[in-house]
Amino acid sequence: MLPSPDDGAVNAVYLDANATEPLRPSAATAMLEAASLVGNPSSVHAQGRRARALLEEARAVVARRLDADPLNCVFTSGGTEANVQALHGFAPGRRILVGRTEHDAVRKGVPEGALVEWLEVDSTGQVRLDLLEETLARPHALPALVCLMLANNETGVLHPIAEVARLCARYGAHLHGDAVQAVGRIDVALHAQGFGSLACSGHKLGGPKGAGALLLAGPAPRALAPLFVGGGQEQGRRGGTQALPAIAGMARALEEALDAPADHASLRDRFEKAACQAGAIVCGAGAPRLANTSCLALPGLRAQGQLMRLDLEGFCVSAGSACSSGKVAFSHVLEAMGLKDLAGQAIRVSLPWNVRQDDVERFAAAYARLAAGRANAVPVAGGMA
Ligand code: PLP
Repeated sequence: MLPSPDDGAVNAVYLDANATEPLRPSAATAMLEAASLVGNPSSVHAQGRRARALLEEARAVVARRLDADPLNCVFTSGGTEANVQALHGFAPGRRILVGRTEHDAVRKGVPEGALVEWLEVDSTGQVRLDLLEETLARPHALPALVCLMLANNETGVLHPIAEVARLCARYGAHLHGDAVQAVGRIDVALHAQGFGSLACSGHKLGGPKGAGALLLAGPAPRALAPLFVGGGQEQGRRGGTQALPAIAGMARALEEALDAPADHASLRDRFEKAACQAGAIVCGAGAPRLANTSCLALPGLRAQGQLMRLDLEGFCVSAGSACSSGKVAFSHVLEAMGLKDLAGQAIRVSLPWNVRQDDVERFAAAYARLAAGRANAVPVAGGMA
């Protein structure tokens, strides 16, 4: 049974899509259908074969929609596992180049003892291509594994992936992309964009929590060391019975996200304009960004306080990335962008696929009231023109 909704959560406006997207009804239906199947996809009898057929159908969808070969789509429990498996699988015999603003799944997923070099970003949050090239060009006994996210979870900033991929190809580096925040929001294509591997996550695109995929480049099954050996599922690359309902839900959510993409840009732009008039600074504003993400700093107002005020007014937003302790963690992303002073004063507003315009307008007004309450703040008219 669900906990009783006595805390206002049911009526709260949800603007924290980068933590997790609301489940799409079509994904819920697909999950229910899959859950009604009895068989284990590894069983050879009729019920097992039915479950296997559904599993392979989902694999074909995920692979085809992200320009991968189904033979090289490994289902995982989510984005963290997919990233960690790529790091562990491709690190042996390579030096690892990791972006400063990567998610902890990557920053902390690097295998112990690996040789890690950090890739700096500029003040907008984009990777410094000059430094990347310098690092790749430096003579080294080990080839490189470059790990960069396509879209940042805190700021929405997009790296110049086409240029990054060109450099990786020129210097023979394997490019691993953390596409967790990108899939369903911008174009993601494993082969066409020159990735060696890509990680994605079901719950960031309106699917359920508990499913993800690691896509590997190549048309023939590619060997990759498993994190879990187990029963040899996923062609020996990920042991454990596949979470069929979650995988089926993820595949359906992906189809919907790509076939009916949300159009957030104009709503976000109007909201950011109102927020800036109220005194906010948009972190990463100078770079191309996800259309659903705003990282807003209010100098002089601690993020924790902002979150509490907005929560009391019925708005769910977050500071930086969601973190398991429930505390607001210091943002290594803003620090890497040279915005350390703002790091404790920034919140993230991320519009979900089903956001309503009037909810964003109400949020803009609440945010303007919050900003106007700061010491020495110049009162401004709220609302989104
Ligand atoms: N990578 C990025 C950029 C993320 O934002 C997240 C989750 O916030 C992850 C990886 C981890 O994904 P998951 O929650 O599916 O493990």
